Amino acid sequence: MYKAFLIKYSEIGIKGKNRYLFEDALCNNIKEALKSCEGDFYVSKEQGRIYVESLTDYDYDEAVSALSRIFGIAAICPVMLLDDKDWDSVCKACIKHVSERYEDKNFTFKVEAKRADKNYIYTSPEIGMHMGAVLLDEFPELKVDVHNPSVRITIEIRKKAYIYSESIKGPGGMPIGTSGKAMLLLSGGIDSPVAGYMIARRGVRLEAVYFHAPPYTSERAKKKVCDLAKLMAKYTGSFRLHVINFTEIQMAIYEKCPHDELTIIMRRYMMRIAEKLARESECLGLVTGESIGQVASQTMQSLNCTNEVCTLPVYRPLIAFDKQDIVEISQKIDTFETSILPYEDCCTIFVAKHPVTKPDISVIRRSETRLDDVIGDMLKTAYDTEEIIEITP
Ligand code: ATP
Ligand code: MG
Repeated sequence: MYKAFLIKYSEIGIKGKNRYLFEDALCNNIKEALKSCEGDFYVSKEQGRIYVESLTDYDYDEAVSALSRIFGIAAICPVMLLDDKDWDSVCKACIKHVSERYEDKNFTFKVEAKRADKNYIYTSPEIGMHMGAVLLDEFPELKVDVHNPSVRITIEIRKKAYIYSESIKGPGGMPIGTSGKAMLLLSGGIDSPVAGYMIARRGVRLEAVYFHAPPYTSERAKKKVCDLAKLMAKYTGSFRLHVINFTEIQMAIYEKCPHDELTIIMRRYMMRIAEKLARESECLGLVTGESIGQVASQTMQSLNCTNEVCTLPVYRPLIAFDKQDIVEISQKIDTFETSILPYEDCCTIFVAKHPVTKPDISVIRRSETRLDDVIGDMLKTAYDTEEIIEITP
């Protein structure tokens, strides 16, 4: 029944002169996402709205599911599209729409019309009034409620006629690519994929880095991170995942530094490496899944210590979220089931029984000097052996 979708966009962060940049990015992202769906589509923007028209047969559920993952979309309205917009055809189509879409006709409704074609036989208020009468005639169970209808039937008369009454919620946010790029520290846990999702939803393109510690972390653990990245890519589009071999650095920290400071020092090296990769890839910030107080390395004092080594802004979208709230988002975006698979992550291998919860920066700095002789070469090896994986949805 639906040959097109009207795409309503959410907040337009870039108003005025730059608005077209937002719309063009959204159109491109829609085209890109629909490439992986069955069928051919034509995406166009017209007077502040975006239309997706199907040129061939297509799979409705697949298309809606692809559209509902595109950031910047507030709502998706499946539209009946009529090439022939003479009044009789519009009436017939509108009756068909109500007849097929609403099994139970016991509801209140209102017909709203928008007429872009000023030569049409009726004005917008007339279209609303006349179609209301046509529908009441055909379906006597219907009731009109102009103030608070349960169904709003919209008729737009443009080059073609459009009829729609349904609105499927989109993910909101801003189109990917309208806000620069950031480097996500992606582990195999629950939090970092959610953090990446939230930042990407603001229009930020992602790159990601994963610190791998073979043989302490298995190939399965790395595969799990790639799987998570792939699930994220359904929202963010393709991105690069940098895999850094962290074993040697981790071992050196383990051998030379106080064990209760292990996690903090390790996190500081992760941030340093992530920042270097970020700068090389023209990223404007780092993203982590940290949340105040969640674990010893995420107290305010610990965050102070990890933050100190970076000069780029570190975005922590989950900073004030409870774990349960994070879990709910990860379920919604479908990363949860993969995140809870039991493959060890590189931080759990070397965790101390009693990690410091209130680390003192000057103490940590002093402990790190014990690595002075070896760390330069180790960092160089880590960069030289970096693996880059192209993640696609
Ligand atoms: P997550 O669920 O995201 O793994 P977590 O609760 O396990 O988080 P930590 O292990 O303290 O918390 O990690 C805090 C943040 O540091 C993570 O959210 C992630 O951004 C980053 N991080 C931790 N381990 C790694 C890793 N092996 N590779 C890349 N980033 C990591
Ligand atoms: Mg973790």
